[in-house]
Amino acid sequence: MQNAPHLVHNLAFVVPSYEWWNGPFYGVGLKVYDLLAGKLGLGPSRLLSREETLKRIPTLEPEGLRGGVIYYDGQFEDARLAINLAQTAEDYGATVLNYMRVVELKKTADVISGVTAIDLESGQSIEFNGRVVINATGVFSDRIREMDEPGCQPIITPSQGVHLVLPKEFLKSDAAIMVPHTADGRVLFAVPWHERVVVGTTDTPVEKPVLEPCALQEEIDFILTHAARYLTHDPDYGDILSVFAGLRPLVNLQGGEDTAEISRDHHVMVSKAGLVTIAGGKWTTYRKMAEDTIQQAALVAGLPERPSITRNLRIHGWLKAVDRDNHLHIYGSDRIYIEDMIKKHPELGKKLHPELPYIKGEVVWAVRQEMARSVEDVLARRTRALLLNAELSMKIAPEVAEMMARELKVRRKKRWIKEQLKLYMDVAKRYLPQRTD
Ligand SMILES: Cc1cc2nc3c(=O)[nH]c(=O)nc-3n(C[C@H](O)[C@H](O)[C@H](O)COP(=O)(O)OP(=O)(O)OC[C@H]3O[C@@H](n4cnc5c(N)ncnc54)[C@H](O)[C@@H]3O)c2cc1C
Repeated sequence: MQNAPHLVHNLAFVVPSYEWWNGPFYGVGLKVYDLLAGKLGLGPSRLLSREETLKRIPTLEPEGLRGGVIYYDGQFEDARLAINLAQTAEDYGATVLNYMRVVELKKTADVISGVTAIDLESGQSIEFNGRVVINATGVFSDRIREMDEPGCQPIITPSQGVHLVLPKEFLKSDAAIMVPHTADGRVLFAVPWHERVVVGTTDTPVEKPVLEPCALQEEIDFILTHAARYLTHDPDYGDILSVFAGLRPLVNLQGGEDTAEISRDHHVMVSKAGLVTIAGGKWTTYRKMAEDTIQQAALVAGLPERPSITRNLRIHGWLKAVDRDNHLHIYGSDRIYIEDMIKKHPELGKKLHPELPYIKGEVVWAVRQEMARSVEDVLARRTRALLLNAELSMKIAPEVAEMMARELKVRRKKRWIKEQLKLYMDVAKRYLPQRTD
């Protein structure tokens, strides 16, 4: 909230009580949470009566409801923060590359001295030298460790989590619902997000990580069935606007099988050859993870010790007084440049689709300023069109491809557009729920 105020806001969470012990139990737990947060807390938690709970969340299942507990947490724009962090690194002198896959680690006298990578667009192989190499590849960490020490003991247990996006009618509130313990012991939440609601999640162990994980039908069924117990309207397959799956890179040093029980802590490891691996952790703790990693990396590289500057570092786009009613507020201090562009080319101010918040100028901006190279970059990772409504995102994909081809000045434009659309449609179809029985 201090370092990227344009991307983070305070969100109220209500834990509904349907059992007599829920209120006191979670009430005490959340008081401890308040104490731990100290002066960084976003607001004190408190018990709610049944009436207050229903006033806060009118679409909460009233049958058997006794009351609730309200607490506060931060909600942030995750894709935008990732982009803004890369931009911050660049502002401070880093060279940032995308679509560059590391395929080999280079060693000099048994010590890591760089990487060989493939430029996925040209197919060209490129060598990079470095005094230290950091492996920060999430669920793929073990693949890079294998390049260093073939046959090494894996440390990552990928855990799949699935989220469903539903229309706002299911949660007519600016507060979220949090159920810490469903009947079968899982966490369930329904969070307001971009005029919609995100419902999740699952914790399914996965054998091998894949680039594009796919939600299982049983995961979708679990979320729908459990959400129906807490909402007045029971959501069904037909209500789902988008379903997305991700893999948590959990570090499993104990070898436990229940992924929900594995700690979300992060671990920094240095191999014999000097490969620094950062694994596990959470988005929320990224800054601390980075600080711990850089400290180790500086030691390996033999660089002078320097205190980290990131605790109070303003992230690219930092702007405190943002007008959250204007969709472009997520660009923070960059918003004025997008508006300037629109002044010169008013057609860029038009929406890509009436039911999505995104305007055409954002496509141009993403290509010019945010290294967007593919239609999927724009629709899934710069904007969130794919996650807000997979079907609508497929409808706007041809126009986005056309604009990008012009902006990127691609050769063989028609072919590029055709290839991009095929790739995008193949990905987007996976975000549309399919019931097989
Ligand atoms: C469903 C779900 C819900 C979650 N909810 C929360 C939450 O509420 N709060 C929270 O704090 N955290 C949450 N997390 C966890 C959080 O999202 C992850 O911990 C975090 O994204 C991991 O970041 P990372 O940078 O380690 O890995 P990633 O984000 O996976 O990044 C790794 C990168 O490495 C790249 N890469 C891999 N191999 C190579 C290679 N050979 N060459 C070059 N690049 C390579 C990949 O392309 C990728 O970009 C959630 C995760 C999931 C799946």
